[in-house]
Amino acid sequence: MAGAAGQEYDVVILGGGSGGYACALRAAELGLKVALVEKDLLGGTCLHRGCIPTKALIHAAEVADAARDSEAVGVRATFESIDMAGVNKYKDGVVARLYKGLQGLVKSRKVELVAGAGRLVAKDTVEVDGRRYTGKHVVLASGSYSRSLPGLEIGGRVITSEQALQLDSVPDRVVVLGGGVIGVEFASVWKSFGADVTIVEALPHLVPLEDEASSKALERAFRKRGIAFSLGVRFKGVEQTDSGVVVSLEDGKTFEADLLLVAVGRGPNTANLGYEEQGITMDRGFVLTDERLRTNVEGVHAVGDIVPGLQLAHRGFQQGIFVAEDIAGLEPAVIDETGIPKVTYSDPEVASVGLTEAKAREKFGDVEVVEYNLGGNGRSQIIGTTGFVKLVRQKDGPVVGVHMVGARIGEQVGEAQLIVNWEAFPEDVAALVHAHPTQNEALGEAHLALAGKPLHSHS
Ligand SMILES: Cc1cc2nc3c(=O)[nH]c(=O)nc-3n(C[C@H](O)[C@H](O)[C@H](O)COP(=O)(O)OP(=O)(O)OC[C@H]3O[C@@H](n4cnc5c(N)ncnc54)[C@H](O)[C@@H]3O)c2cc1C
Repeated sequence: MAGAAGQEYDVVILGGGSGGYACALRAAELGLKVALVEKDLLGGTCLHRGCIPTKALIHAAEVADAARDSEAVGVRATFESIDMAGVNKYKDGVVARLYKGLQGLVKSRKVELVAGAGRLVAKDTVEVDGRRYTGKHVVLASGSYSRSLPGLEIGGRVITSEQALQLDSVPDRVVVLGGGVIGVEFASVWKSFGADVTIVEALPHLVPLEDEASSKALERAFRKRGIAFSLGVRFKGVEQTDSGVVVSLEDGKTFEADLLLVAVGRGPNTANLGYEEQGITMDRGFVLTDERLRTNVEGVHAVGDIVPGLQLAHRGFQQGIFVAEDIAGLEPAVIDETGIPKVTYSDPEVASVGLTEAKAREKFGDVEVVEYNLGGNGRSQIIGTTGFVKLVRQKDGPVVGVHMVGARIGEQVGEAQLIVNWEAFPEDVAALVHAHPTQNEALGEAHLALAGKPLHSHS
């Protein structure tokens, strides 16, 4: 433990979420002496309030749908109801096992885990409960929180994803404010659990960061599932009563529901942590860095959701690893943000990597595009999903974007990200053998088509 005079480390990390703990593990692996300061639970948002618990809910939703649809495949099962206590027990069990594993990992790498709220009190020092931890390098990794809109107060029946993960019953009717990843995933789960769901999104499409073709396919699929949405209309206000909420939009429409989920994005958790006082350049609460994740203050780095860009756990992991290696002098290659894969785990899933068609046209002018329909893919037929794999290629050049929609299609993003990040040509991928019958074949088929030799698709 550090005395009042402080203790010296190679790296002091403020925040033990995806970015912070990945940095700690890699730095320790490289022989550096590391202190990791965490005020709540090691693992952060992703493990305790984000990726993992939401995906457990999504799996429960999948099982519910499978029971409902069982007759279609000749299995006699009946769907009775959702037992939220059982769902939560399963979800919490998954989180608890992973949490235990992570604690063991951090301990075994000899990272000093400091429990408590830290504050940057000098450019090389984090103070926790009066104790000072000084490092040759400091890594800021304090993560993010659920944002709201001006004047929209969270409380009662107006909730964020944190409360949504703790519900002890399935609401009859929900309005989801925000059609981004988090909003769409909760909408998908609640619909499968039996709720009436309406999404309100101010932009013209759901998952607006995705290729427009993917957004439109998701909208079609949601319409078919009976998930309602209002696009291109702004939220006006909400009134709470004892029994519910009345949500009004600027176009005059109102919706009554049991709950309003506010899923309008995540803000950087950087207030009152001493960052500004130490002269770190910030922009609307985000910590600005160069491409090597160094702030303007010598020796201070930043990773994860506090750095402007995609707020994703795997981006945080990679940035954490990058900073550890950079500090150790390994000169890692800069992370290409456009090469970071994205998956929305709704039903159907939306997955992508690289540039959208629109962005690729902006950048390269001339591009070639192919859309392979999952209707021609055996495995997709078997599991009863529709969707597509869309490829965007620089004219006569490499594949620069892969966009996919369909149940379980997120698992295919692994190969897709190799293709884009290794700048593969369609001909390179077309020559590789894709196992049959898998959804992975759809990627192979799309590349065959783009290479001018379609097999199970029309040219
Ligand atoms: C509902 C939901 C679903 C998500 N699903 C996915 C998904 O499927 N895939 C995906 O890639 N991403 C997902 N995300 C995003 C992902 O969780 C974040 O991108 C990721 O957690 C960011 O990691 P981070 O290390 O920057 O911050 P965080 O994970 O937020 O960790 C920051 C840590 O710092 C600690 N901290 C903050 N201030 C202090 C202080 N003063 N002293 C000590 N400790 C402090 C916090 O307690 C926290 O543990 C989801 C997020 C949410 C909310």
